[in-house]
Amino acid sequence: MKRHSTLLAFACLCFALPAQGDAFETARHKMVEEVAADAAFTSSYSGRATLNPNVVAAMKKVERHRFVPAELASYAYLNRPLPIGYGQTISQPFIVALMTDLMNLKEGDRVLEIGTGSGYQAAILAKTAKAVYSIEIIEPLGKEAARRLKSMGYGNVETRVGDGYYGWPEAAPFDAIMVTAAASHVPPPLIKQLKPGGRMVIPLGTHFLTQYLMLLEKQVDGTVTSRQILPVRFVPLTGGH
Ligand code: SAH
Repeated sequence: MKRHSTLLAFACLCFALPAQGDAFETARHKMVEEVAADAAFTSSYSGRATLNPNVVAAMKKVERHRFVPAELASYAYLNRPLPIGYGQTISQPFIVALMTDLMNLKEGDRVLEIGTGSGYQAAILAKTAKAVYSIEIIEPLGKEAARRLKSMGYGNVETRVGDGYYGWPEAAPFDAIMVTAAASHVPPPLIKQLKPGGRMVIPLGTHFLTQYLMLLEKQVDGTVTSRQILPVRFVPLTGGH
């Protein structure tokens, strides 16, 4: 009888405990609600009424506070871009969600990202695709992001330091490509490395003029169609091209 009541007490304790999560979980879920509201508000531009549930689940899971400088951790769940050093920024969570959503990823997809930055977008992609290849041109940022992603257990992300304009030919072709810095034109090597039927999301424009987030689709015959989604503001795609 005594043994029975002890078991019962344990059972009650288990049910009474909240689900295990980090200290920022509530703030993160609130941020995701704001992101979903932004997505609904801009649905006439994006053509997507609601975000894909996989994207929402990834945004709820990935600990953004671990991708920003420690002194900015308390701002990590504002729906805002934040500085990450070297004049670069981690994108606004809504933009991260929208860009990921626009790629229509399937479980088995292999994705290329240009502009690793903090590694946050790569982490979101890692949860929504099979494999992620991410290139960063600023060496200390690329190395730090690689170390961070590894320590957090993102085993399906490969990173490299280099000029993403030229893509990652050895790992091509990709089901989807995301560029997270604004380019003046779509880099031809990236079009080449996109599978027929694949999608690319890229901000086009200059630092001074309006930039637009573009969604490109490579057709089976190799031609590319494009659609303008939203005006955006990204740091420029640099490099020697
Ligand atoms: N995706 C990042 C946001 C990055 S901001 C994140 O989730 O944090 C854009 C990044 O693109 C910067 O880190 C910048 O250094 C990088 N970048 C700019 N030009 C590049 C190029 N030619 N190749 C690779 N990375 C580039």
